[in-house]
Amino acid sequence: MIINIQTSHRTDMVDITDKIERAVKETGITTGIVHVYSMHTTAAITINENADHDVKTDISNTLDKLIPWEDNYRHTEGNSAAHLKTSLIGTSELVPIANGKLIMGTWQGVFLCEFDGPRHRKVHLTFLKS
Ligand code: ZN
Repeated sequence: MIINIQTSHRTDMVDITDKIERAVKETGITTGIVHVYSMHTTAAITINENADHDVKTDISNTLDKLIPWEDNYRHTEGNSAAHLKTSLIGTSELVPIANGKLIMGTWQGVFLCEFDGPRHRKVHLTFLKS
């Protein structure tokens, strides 16, 4: 199953937890695992706090400090920073499912991390039933 996400800024963290929850419901799976996978080289997937929005700002700002947009990169497309951030964060996460719901901590959410937006992104979900 694919979920579609429109990002709004060059760097953006979009909470996709609700979309994944809806997809889990559609499958009817009550127990298992969902693999959440970004089909892109400049957008990653991470799980982190979705209660205080300052956390995602801090993540974005720190990544910008570690990996500046301009830094004598060789890749001619001009978006090497986005590629590097994607490899650092990673393109997928696994989330357990129980009672038809994602097992998430109170403050956790699943985010698509946009590093070269705004763009239309696709996130592929694979469900493993147990
Ligand atoms: Zn590129």
